[in-house]
Amino acid sequence: MKYILTLNAGSSSLKYSVYRTQAGAGLELRAVGQVDRIGSENATLILKREGERDSRELGEADHARAVEAILEICEPHMQGAPVAGIGHRIVHGGTLFDKPAVLNSDILSALHRLVPLAPLHQPHNLSAVRAAMSSFPDAVQVGCFDTAFHRSQPWVDDTFALPREYYDKGIRRYGFHGLSYDYITGELDRIDPDDHHRKTVVAHLGNGASMCAVKGGKSVASTMGFTALDGLPMGTRCGQLDPGVLLYMIAQEGMGHNQIRDLLYTKCGLLGLSGISNDMRELEASTRREAKEAIDYYVFRIRRELGGLTAAIGGLETLVFCGGIGENSATIRGKVCEGMEWLGIEIDPGLNAAGAGIISTGRVTVRVIKTDEELVIARAVDAALAA
Ligand code: AMP
Repeated sequence: MKYILTLNAGSSSLKYSVYRTQAGAGLELRAVGQVDRIGSENATLILKREGERDSRELGEADHARAVEAILEICEPHMQGAPVAGIGHRIVHGGTLFDKPAVLNSDILSALHRLVPLAPLHQPHNLSAVRAAMSSFPDAVQVGCFDTAFHRSQPWVDDTFALPREYYDKGIRRYGFHGLSYDYITGELDRIDPDDHHRKTVVAHLGNGASMCAVKGGKSVASTMGFTALDGLPMGTRCGQLDPGVLLYMIAQEGMGHNQIRDLLYTKCGLLGLSGISNDMRELEASTRREAKEAIDYYVFRIRRELGGLTAAIGGLETLVFCGGIGENSATIRGKVCEGMEWLGIEIDPGLNAAGAGIISTGRVTVRVIKTDEELVIARAVDAALAA
């Protein structure tokens, strides 16, 4: 019996899951939790296990202290069995990785060189790797990349129409949410072994949101590009934006890099449009015009991308909703599918309201699947341990 830990590090939070693995028994989720307010003087640690919740005040904590504290809270439940492997969610694998990789110092240096491509996420991901390497020196450390799933995209969806030198310098459409798409395509394979041959669009609608066109199990096109800002509007991120707007912001509004970055990442999307909240539940509950308009824009962009992604794979046979909004909001699913009979999408209102596995009655199979990025990471570690 061994344990596998998955870590998903953000700037001020570190989410973790603990899996038990035994020969013949597969992976069993034993606990989940997170450390919040990393970098402040009042970080907290939560552990959820067998229906119970334990929490601790950590005081001042960086990622290294957070990893130690996770070990301290989990160890008593591990009956002396070791943490044999740790899987890390790493936002950027650049062009280097199209699958998970066992991490070593050379790979860490290569990943560090990608920091300029994801300055808000990659440094925290790598801090967690370093912390885990020092707290668990005997464990296998595996990096799982959000970009990896999209490395199969053809050149036309990998590039921008900039002078070629920029493509060669790495200014490409990498795509993100790859762990979620990996899980969903795996689930389609499991539920219906023929499905991976189908033309599928997956809508990952969470606080971050993107859509991906999958054909033959491989990513062909996605809505996120060079960064996780492009495509759909999100909780606080803008989604697709005419680059001329940025020129205007600089020239006419006198905005600098940091102001523009904060605007695009933290003040736009559902929050910016509504002026109320980035939380879809609050917008759905609101009677204010701005909330309705924010939802209208959100739905409009999803529908527009659905058309474009369908064209990229030459048709549509399966549409999957996942992510917090995709999994839970019958309202958004209903609005996205409304009037889409021309594309073969028809859904049953009762099945949609119930969040059934299949909610469609028309030619296109419309599924609701709860995504599980942590399990994708744990499986990659399990595979590395078995290799
Ligand atoms: P995620 O980032 O995947 O955890 O998704 C977070 C988003 O899912 C937030 O906008 C939540 O408001 C939204 N969400 C979660 N549950 C519901 C629900 N029952 N109805 C509408 N939105 C929901």
